[in-house]
Amino acid sequence: MNEIDDLIKQQINLPSPPAIAVKILNTVQNEECSLEELEKILSADPALISKMLRIANSAIYSLPNKVGNINRALSILGTNLIKNIALSFVIAGNLRGNNKSLFDFDYFWRRSVTSAVAAELVMELINSKDDDIFAAGLLQDIGVLVLYLAKGKEYDSALKHCIANGGTGLALSERETFGYDHQQVSGLLLESWGLPKGISTPARFHHAPDLAPTKYCRTAQVLKMANLLSAICNSNQTTNNVVELQTKMSTFFDITPSQSLHLLDDIARKSFDILQIFEIEPGQIKPYSQLLQEANEELGRLNFSYEQLVLALKEEKSKSERFADELRQSNDKLEQMAFRDGLTNLHNHRFFQENLQREMARTKRYGHPLSLVMFDIDFFKDVNDSFGHPAGDQVLINLAEAITGAVRPSDIVSRYGGEEFTVILPETDRIGMKVFAERLRRCAAAMTTIFKGSSIKITISCGGVQYSRNDTITQRELIEAADRGLYLSKKNGRNRVTIITFDPKSQ
Ligand code: GH3
Ligand code: MG
Ligand code: MG
Repeated sequence: MNEIDDLIKQQINLPSPPAIAVKILNTVQNEECSLEELEKILSADPALISKMLRIANSAIYSLPNKVGNINRALSILGTNLIKNIALSFVIAGNLRGNNKSLFDFDYFWRRSVTSAVAAELVMELINSKDDDIFAAGLLQDIGVLVLYLAKGKEYDSALKHCIANGGTGLALSERETFGYDHQQVSGLLLESWGLPKGISTPARFHHAPDLAPTKYCRTAQVLKMANLLSAICNSNQTTNNVVELQTKMSTFFDITPSQSLHLLDDIARKSFDILQIFEIEPGQIKPYSQLLQEANEELGRLNFSYEQLVLALKEEKSKSERFADELRQSNDKLEQMAFRDGLTNLHNHRFFQENLQREMARTKRYGHPLSLVMFDIDFFKDVNDSFGHPAGDQVLINLAEAITGAVRPSDIVSRYGGEEFTVILPETDRIGMKVFAERLRRCAAAMTTIFKGSSIKITISCGGVQYSRNDTITQRELIEAADRGLYLSKKNGRNRVTIITFDPKSQ
């Protein structure tokens, strides 16, 4: 298909699919395939049938009545889904390794099955339906196995180090070592085995959904989240992972942080059953309340002031309801810490970037205008030079407070860096923005900071830009435009507002 595929093929002898998988695939690829034919193939393996019925009756498909035979399962859940579940069992059952292997096959499949359950539940949560999602979740990382089988020790050390982090770092180190990564190997293998594109393509982009062809982008996003959810459930619940999960679920799918935490709980519970059907030890799959406790302990280590809280909460362990509530609150605090600037308590740069991305996406979706204002204190170096750095700090704190009082609750004020700030104004056009920026400028000029008996006055220079649904610019270009406005305000004498328009004629 392309150079990378060729490179992979030169270096790796891709394993052939298990014989029964070939039969299943051949049968369902035939347009006229009847339920009876698929049933006949599956019936040759009674153990497989019994596992399939257990899956069909498990909590993840929440059927109203129990399904007692494969024929019923096929007619209720559909040939496509049943085929995918059958393939999942066959492939997972065939690639199990042996006890002598260095590679922890159990851990690998535990993570994969949890990913499959997570992918299914994320789809349900976002009200989408995709028969391929369970198999895609299960098989997305199969490239890791194939790479291990092909490269042995050379691969093992990178793997041990990276897999704990959800695999993103792993893909990077694979590309550095081999010139390609496990996503590409997964995609190529699944495609060469004849699995549908709805499985192989999202698998190929499961760490970089933005690069997937538009049609598969959402499924790839679901896989990325499923991978992270699986990492967290299998005891890699670092605070960063939980915060990343909550942020991405909200950016990708508008899912709230608390819904994400409940989802974790649901996955831990439902994976427990499914893992048993796959004959995999459930290992350390952890429920939500325990997760929160551990996240909180980590928080305690990060910040001394929380240690007392952790201790107090530990004493309260028996009163588990109250306990879980308080822990949830501290988790929110931790999330706040990750997104706030320590000096001014405004949002930080990272929060700004993530929110701008989200607001731009909303504008694309709903068509409301969006405005971005950037401003910078004029001659701030002089303030530091004349009154000292602590005085400068106090000015930044006061300015942050004054601006926070001057914006709407939906506006997002952030410290972009140093003495430079940004305000994201959702649902605001350039006229509204100009009025706002002028108000901001006057507010800064009217402010007086008293520090050790000195009165300090400042002014600010602002740049602004509007983003509309039909604009084709990137996030970076939008920020650069606001910055250009800011630069022009400085150049034209400071203490002023400059609004940038993309149409060069109207500037
Ligand atoms: P201009 O009008 O061109 O923006 O002039 P300026 O002096 O404000 O610009 P310049 O970028 O040269 O200086 C910015 C100063 O802001 C230098 C830096 O020490 C100061 N600064 C950045 N962050 C902080 C901070 O957290 N506290 C204090 N006190 N000063 C800071
Ligand atoms: Mg400045
Ligand atoms: Mg500056």
